[in-house]
Amino acid sequence: MLSEFGLIERYFRRAPVRAVVGGGDDCALIEISPRRALAITTDMLVEGRHFFAGTDPYRLGWKCLAVNLSDLAAMGATPAYFTLSFALPKADPAWLEPFSRGLFALADEHKVEIIGGDTTAGPLTISITAMGEIAPEKAIKRSGAMAGDEIWVSHEIGGAALQLYARWGKTTVPEAEAEALMLRMEMPTPRIALGEFLRDHARAAIDISDGLCGDLQHILRASNVGAVIRLDAIPVPQALSEKLHGSERDLAIKLHLSGGDDYELCFTAPASAREAIATKLSELGLRGGVIGEITAALGLRALDEHGAALALPQSFDHFRE
Ligand code: ADP
Ligand code: MG
Repeated sequence: MLSEFGLIERYFRRAPVRAVVGGGDDCALIEISPRRALAITTDMLVEGRHFFAGTDPYRLGWKCLAVNLSDLAAMGATPAYFTLSFALPKADPAWLEPFSRGLFALADEHKVEIIGGDTTAGPLTISITAMGEIAPEKAIKRSGAMAGDEIWVSHEIGGAALQLYARWGKTTVPEAEAEALMLRMEMPTPRIALGEFLRDHARAAIDISDGLCGDLQHILRASNVGAVIRLDAIPVPQALSEKLHGSERDLAIKLHLSGGDDYELCFTAPASAREAIATKLSELGLRGGVIGEITAALGLRALDEHGAALALPQSFDHFRE
């Protein structure tokens, strides 16, 4: 069977003709005037696949837009417009009212306006296309990483996946942290302000939707470089940190390195930008930091606390379970 990315590559990838960036990055980029480009991204959420049946509709409305704005943030673009297309089993005001409130709570926060969509009856599926603005030469691509760059994440990694595994009954989370972890999974925060700042500081970026290692590998492949990351440098939520040092260590490492759905940014920058980035992260209240370095030698290596290489867990792929 083909993987998710294999099938896109084989059947749907075409070299861009008019676009500055076609497929293969977090957003496509099209130039609308010599100094302005539109960054365009689309993400679809399917009930039972991306969210549990019965998910709180306010949170779902938020998340559908958040995952799209997160791709704009990964490019450094400023959100501007979106379209909303969905299939709905029934036209239920008790669901539609909170769903639209959640959607527009986030839209209003970033002054992004709805400009259309499509509505049909069918199994619950929501697809948003978001557009943002950026000067084309400022867009942060996956392909800009250079050997010697430091690799950063914007905030704690693994919380959303930990909550998902708890929901599946495969682990437990402490009562006191359950709601915060639930919010990590159900209402991710797109790192828009950070993305805008990184336009002037980062060389490459991606948002972590499928898992840290898998998404970092997209940067490595696009940039033709390698990387080494250190497990103990990756910021971790308290509940996961406890598991990393206890009997569930193997599961915790898997969630930490390859758990998806956090929608934090992973980016690379020269060491000369370190202080400015650290200051910005703390201004934004984020506990991000440097997790490793880009290397000229290809491949990704993850090291444990003692410097020993860890086996890399597989990141999420829709067609490889
Ligand atoms: P992200 O996680 O950033 O939303 P995806 O993993 O969904 O990105 O997609 C990876 C890349 O493949 C993106 O550049 C996306 O635009 C492109 N892509 C995904 N599906 C298709 C498709 N059916 N046809 C063409 N390009 C696609
Ligand atoms: Mg992305």
